[in-house]
Amino acid sequence: MSAIPVSASSLASALMRKEVLDLHAYHVPDSRGLIKLDAMENPYALPLPLRKEIATIVGNAAINRYPDPNPAALKEEICNTLGLPPDMEVLLGNGSDELIQLLALAMNKPGAAMMSLEPSFVMYRMIANYTGMRYVGVPLKINSGADDFSLDMTETLKAIKREQPSLVFLAYPNNPTGNLYPSLDVKRIIEAAPGLVVVDEAYYAFASDSFIPHLASYPNLLVMRTFSKLGMAGLRLGFLAGNKAWLGQLEKLRLPYNVGVLTQLVAGKLLAHHGVLLQQAEQIKMDRARLYQQLGEISAVQVYPSEANFLLFRVSDANEVFGGLRQRGVLIKNLNGGHPMLKNCLRVTVGTRAENDTFIAALRETIIQSA
Ligand code: PMP
Repeated sequence: MSAIPVSASSLASALMRKEVLDLHAYHVPDSRGLIKLDAMENPYALPLPLRKEIATIVGNAAINRYPDPNPAALKEEICNTLGLPPDMEVLLGNGSDELIQLLALAMNKPGAAMMSLEPSFVMYRMIANYTGMRYVGVPLKINSGADDFSLDMTETLKAIKREQPSLVFLAYPNNPTGNLYPSLDVKRIIEAAPGLVVVDEAYYAFASDSFIPHLASYPNLLVMRTFSKLGMAGLRLGFLAGNKAWLGQLEKLRLPYNVGVLTQLVAGKLLAHHGVLLQQAEQIKMDRARLYQQLGEISAVQVYPSEANFLLFRVSDANEVFGGLRQRGVLIKNLNGGHPMLKNCLRVTVGTRAENDTFIAALRETIIQSA
């Protein structure tokens, strides 16, 4: 290096890839002291006896050792608990975000495209951008009233034909819109796609349908799930389910110890008590219906149907409503500015009854004040 002093920032800009320099990091706001309804977390703690069992397991964990690089028992527990068809396997990720990245790395041949629908989970586009993969976003329908954010099959099939994507992500239900596309349309997309289609079922616990039973019917289908929304966001565990012809290749890209000792142990325990988490999910689904109705009763709000653990709604000034809620101690997600179709949209995660009531009261106050 020359003797002329250079700043770290000029060095970083000169040496790093443009795709990285152009990136805006995924923003996680400070939620201290606020009712946290911004990140699709399960609001419920585990029952005390289960927490005590977990404390013992964690206390006895061999954290001086690397984790099991291939936790066969945990994988089997996942396959059994979630009823995976025989012959299908799972690949574990440090959250499903990591699996999206792994898929992009694996499929990114020169010129290859990743396709998704817009608006959807922002990490698809972001990961395509920083892995240098061509990204194609097909807009969902807008300005069609109750049909807003539904699939535009004509445009989607046209885009598949034109772009020949090697990787398609379909969030089922979609984030941030919450809707579940008709399964027949998803099947038509899988059949039309020349490449791999990943049905991302992050919100499976709150939805009325799944593509897991169809895994054996389509050689180009994988289903991705996460345990984050079910009550294990802090553990970071997601998985891809499908044929081992795909998973065996992807396995080579997985970093050897991507799922830590504590995650393996605690997730194993929680899967043995899957019923507790599903019960919490049932409660969340009931409260989603109540919250949907309450939001629908506020005339200045347009709320969209959801099969996930959150609701998308539109107001006349999302920035003002977001600020007003924050001032009143409630943090939700402001989607305004994130995508043109999400102008003045906000997304609220279904919390406990009490949290939802506080949110609704704060929303009413904010709207009355700004009228
Ligand atoms: N897919 C979708 C559709 C999501 O909304 C999210 C989280 N917001 C993820 C994947 C990633 O989840 P995680 O990394 O926590 O497993």
